[in-house]
Amino acid sequence: MKSSTRRKAGFAAALTAVAALALSACGGGGGSSTAPNAGGSPAPSYTVAQNVSLTGSPTFDAIKSAGKVRIGVKQDQPGLGFKDAATGEYSGFDIEIAKWIAASLGYSKDKIEFKPIPSANRESAIANGDIDYYVGTYSITDKRKKLVDFAGPYFVTGQGLLVKKDNTSINSEKDLAGKNVCSATGSTPIQNIKANFKDTKTTEFDTYSQCVEALKSGQVDAVTTDQAILLGYASQEPDALKVVGQPFTVEKYGVGLKKGDTALRTFINKLFTDGKDTWKKIYDSTLGTTGTKVEQPAVENY
Ligand code: GLU
Repeated sequence: MKSSTRRKAGFAAALTAVAALALSACGGGGGSSTAPNAGGSPAPSYTVAQNVSLTGSPTFDAIKSAGKVRIGVKQDQPGLGFKDAATGEYSGFDIEIAKWIAASLGYSKDKIEFKPIPSANRESAIANGDIDYYVGTYSITDKRKKLVDFAGPYFVTGQGLLVKKDNTSINSEKDLAGKNVCSATGSTPIQNIKANFKDTKTTEFDTYSQCVEALKSGQVDAVTTDQAILLGYASQEPDALKVVGQPFTVEKYGVGLKKGDTALRTFINKLFTDGKDTWKKIYDSTLGTTGTKVEQPAVENY
């Protein structure tokens, strides 16, 4: 009796998830300028902190003297970091995380300058001081830790595959031999393919949206990057694209910071640890509108 109730409940939950996915796909409207989360619950508003003092943070000193925060982001990743071509507005999970941090430092939305920076240029933009911090599907890796610091992780996903809807030959990463796979220069997924999938050809662009165009035109067989990113593209064009297989790496997203700014890293890690309700609201209003449930990961102080 009990188990059949549970089964029913499970089925109902699955249906809800599918319905939510279909709804959010409709919300995308297939237009490239509309994020898939259009129509989801509104993003939370953040309390702008007053009289913040953060001693020993060169980044915070720079923000204070500029009177604004410069944040590196992605602009072509629907659901995560997306710029509406018509309005110039940025939306998505990463954008909300970025605004939440800015508010906690005392800076409202109108004091933020978003700077789109592709995967390959992140470390240099942070090291040169072109931006104060970076929030854009940026995996924490030991190699990158030599050049920048990371707060977080604030999200966990894994490498996945996007193919054309009518593709029947690629069902998982086991089917990539002899195929041409596209990813962004300087990303962890392109490095993984080059190192561990020797029989796979690769094509690189600066951004994943260029890879999606190459996939649609038949220039490549698949796009590979984090599944969270690929789901955003698939939900915008559900009749043309699909995500296949299961995530085959672990990608932990961190906030990229200037190396050595321990004061800012500690501050953001504390915000993530103390702000679990805000994190959930951000998730529910962005990536969570597809019905996928994930937990906030614990921060890793290193
Ligand atoms: N998370 C991966 C990375 O940081 C892929 C996504 C991206 O390129 O932003 O390399």
